Amino acid sequence: MSKFLDKRLQETDAYTPGEQPRDIQYIKLNTNESPYPPAPRVLKAVSAEDIANLRLYSDPTCKVLKEKLAGLYGVKPQNVFVSNGSDDILNFAFLAFGRENGAVFPDITYGFYSVFAQLHGVEYTEIPLKEDFTVDYKDYLGINKFIAIANPNAPTGLSLPLWQIEEIVKSNPENVVLIDEAYVDFGGESCYRLTEKYDNLLVVRTFSKSRCLAGGRLGYAFGCKELIEDIEKIKYSTNPYNINRLTLTLGEATVDNDSYYQQKCSEIIQTRKAVKESLENEGFTVLNSDTNFLFAKSDDISGETLYLELKKRGILVRHFGNERIKDFNRITIGTPQEMDCFIKAVKEILSGGKQ
Ligand code: PMP
Repeated sequence: MSKFLDKRLQETDAYTPGEQPRDIQYIKLNTNESPYPPAPRVLKAVSAEDIANLRLYSDPTCKVLKEKLAGLYGVKPQNVFVSNGSDDILNFAFLAFGRENGAVFPDITYGFYSVFAQLHGVEYTEIPLKEDFTVDYKDYLGINKFIAIANPNAPTGLSLPLWQIEEIVKSNPENVVLIDEAYVDFGGESCYRLTEKYDNLLVVRTFSKSRCLAGGRLGYAFGCKELIEDIEKIKYSTNPYNINRLTLTLGEATVDNDSYYQQKCSEIIQTRKAVKESLENEGFTVLNSDTNFLFAKSDDISGETLYLELKKRGILVRHFGNERIKDFNRITIGTPQEMDCFIKAVKEILSGGKQ
């Protein structure tokens, strides 16, 4: 750190992304990417001409992509925002809506919320999840602060029903409620339709999980026209061309091939069910999941030891040091073959077997 860094930033902890080691070919079950490639037509969507056109800036209004998303979800383009990954949108939202009254979010949730809050000097309170790791929606009623809730939540995988989200939104009319639906396509109940009824709801989504495009960096959000204009203003005040031309093209083709992604989500849900059962057969406690990952712990092995033993065997899962969840690992659902290797390795580790 140099002596020039702004004092507030000196005290900010940056987000720690899941590890991406390159030493060997790992089975990567640690960052909730899709194990499947984008749809065949998406693979062919970028032409040499598109690459040649990189000499030109991308469309800052992202008109075509917004229209396609609006068409798919039955909203108006003015109710859609798109940006460079949903992290970008979360960042804008904390900056835009957090400072006035401060922010609240659960104590166990996506680790970036506290980073964005610190980055933008937003005072924040972390509300503990219940003993069973669910969010108690009553904790968020009428609190008059910017609220960020991942629904389904990460890393627990648990979700709130739509009516509880509506209660939260309804009871905080003077503040923005951000619902992060990064994982909603794997079984959660989306609340995006409520954006037509409430002007304080921002629903954030991503192409990184169910749309197999994590490396393309594309996120989107739904909200009333005015909320969308607010975050557009921040985008235009930082980096108007923040989605590159190739990603725009890939995103458009992704929306055009929605049925492929629906199919892949169903496959992942099926695999998740089988893996949950297998882990339970090995004595694990596995939380219910509406996501593309499982959150699981065993009484026979610590979370950290399991993580390390799996890594030795070429399998990466995500372990969090946080006291409340240190017994758990978050396991992304891969292909059935990858998950067979994972279960085999778990059995071997539990039986004290050598690799
Ligand atoms: N929200 C949640 C809950 C996440 O887990 C992630 C992925 N780490 C994101 C948002 C950000 O995803 P991306 O920036 O790739 O769209």
